[in-house]
Amino acid sequence: MIDIDELRTCTRCALSTTRQRVVIGSGPRHPRLMIVGEAPGRYEDEGGEPFIGRSGRLLFQLMSEEVGIERDECFVTNVVKCRPPGNRTPTQREILACRGWLVAQVHDYAPTVVLALGNVAARAAFNLSEGVGVTHGRIVALFQHETEPASSAPPPQGLVTYHPAAALRGGSSVVDVMRADLRVLKELLDQR
Ligand code: SF4
Repeated sequence: MIDIDELRTCTRCALSTTRQRVVIGSGPRHPRLMIVGEAPGRYEDEGGEPFIGRSGRLLFQLMSEEVGIERDECFVTNVVKCRPPGNRTPTQREILACRGWLVAQVHDYAPTVVLALGNVAARAAFNLSEGVGVTHGRIVALFQHETEPASSAPPPQGLVTYHPAAALRGGSSVVDVMRADLRVLKELLDQR
């Protein structure tokens, strides 16, 4: 069982010296869907919740329209729980330091499906070597060898799509790809 007090005060990497808050994640236990992003941004660092800025609004608009699932039905978190200064990409050292918390969350929350957003999340959650341009829309196995199932339920499956921040930068072509990936997600959830 994850030790929330230990996570809230974690100093496993140098991001502990620059963050305002550890952004642990939010949502119900045993959700149908766990969403994993890259790292908190400025608003998340201030507010303590993941995906509360423009990226989050776009993500949950698409999720509602394509999957019919709302934010409060999902567990939402990031690979790295503390904001990298200036919203830079987390380093490999930071990702490796924090990844154990994500593995523990998947074990404890036991989602049906895990959706990874972007390269950092896909590589950390699914050990994928290829980039999101290749792996998006692909159904993948989760790190089953690293976590014993919390119940007799089947192990979660995973899917990759773009990070909504990429869609905000890239415009309608990226949004269209995300919509197609989310329709695959809906099929996956409907089967489980
Ligand atoms: Fe700990 Fe993760 Fe924050 Fe680093 S990013 S201090 S490993 S919670």
